[in-house]
Amino acid sequence: MTSRRALPPGATLGVLGGGQLGRMFVHAAQTLGFDTLVLDPDAHSPAGAAAHAQLCAPYDDERALAEMAGRCDAVTTEFENVPAPSLASLAQDIPVAPAAAAVAICQDRAAEKAHFERAGVPCAPYAVIETREQLAAIADDLLPGILKTARLGYDGKGQVVVADRVALEAAWTQLRNVLCVLEKRLPLKYELSIIVARGADGQVVNLPVQQNLHRSGILALTTVPAPDVTQSQSDQAIARATAIAESMDYVGVLCVEFFVLEDGALVANEMAPRPHNSGHYSIDACDLSQFELQVRTLARLPLVTPRQHSPCEMVNLLGDLWFDGGREREPDWGALLALPGMHLHLYGKKQARPGRKMGHLTVTAATPALARERANAAAAVLG
Ligand code: ADP
Ligand code: MG
Repeated sequence: MTSRRALPPGATLGVLGGGQLGRMFVHAAQTLGFDTLVLDPDAHSPAGAAAHAQLCAPYDDERALAEMAGRCDAVTTEFENVPAPSLASLAQDIPVAPAAAAVAICQDRAAEKAHFERAGVPCAPYAVIETREQLAAIADDLLPGILKTARLGYDGKGQVVVADRVALEAAWTQLRNVLCVLEKRLPLKYELSIIVARGADGQVVNLPVQQNLHRSGILALTTVPAPDVTQSQSDQAIARATAIAESMDYVGVLCVEFFVLEDGALVANEMAPRPHNSGHYSIDACDLSQFELQVRTLARLPLVTPRQHSPCEMVNLLGDLWFDGGREREPDWGALLALPGMHLHLYGKKQARPGRKMGHLTVTAATPALARERANAAAAVLG
């Protein structure tokens, strides 16, 4: 159900999922005068704490979904693992963006890669593995590779690097023989991502291309402007993400992650049907953030191309920072905030765990070199 009119301030925007992405969506929605309603089974969710109201129920709870449809004027999602049928059921009553069908593609690596191919976008050579026969029949040149569960993987979880066929067999057992994708392991020069927003009228805008550094499969650092990315790679990334969005008739914010290979070729890795960790910098370094873009697409407000006003580095603050040789501690925020150009975002999570995303820090400066220098100073303070 799509109506053409923009939602007025005071309308209620709903979000499925109460994590940090939902929290930053809520902040942006409230800035534009909207009420917000979060659905999350966790009563202490980061987004629920910021929203006007939270429904505390599983994502497939029919009563909660009916209540959401009754109280909201439009609904979005903050993570791709909400059941697509929940989005489809909400869409019978109110506008939902992104649509269930697009989210269903993004939540399954096999469907995602098939979609990249349909959109004419190259991705790593791969094979879908559902049976022992398929495992035995994979081509030699997919090894060494990475075996990834088709569903529910994130931050490098549900992935095993495999050197040969023996390791591949063991890895599939380790992953409990679920539906997997085996990808050839590619020589990465660097990684980048691009965020596009597409409105219900088909207009597409994009943020500047982001260069990303991962540690242990988790995003550690995003640098914008991307220091190593050429103009033609940037143009190509934007064109490909736009093609991917258009071929799904996508409405909302979409992030596409790319590998850049040694020879400069751009290869699509994965996509997310929502704002992305690598786009958090846009809150502090651009005149229009990825979260406001999500609000605007959902509320059918105009889209304009964001302009980056400050070079920046975004550093993820993982739970590891809360531990010193096994002892829990609070990082020295006072010392950090005494430095210039610090934009600290903490998600209000009560429990720190190694690898858990507790917050992020965007460091801005007048030049990329100074942003780098300040990020180094911040890292020295945080230890
Ligand atoms: P997640 O859903 O956990 O983000 P990704 O598929 O993006 O999973 O993989 C996480 C990281 O692992 C990537 O950002 C990249 O650094 C590395 N990686 C993944 N696939 C490959 C590959 N085919 N070749 C080389 N490195 C890879
Ligand atoms: Mg990834």
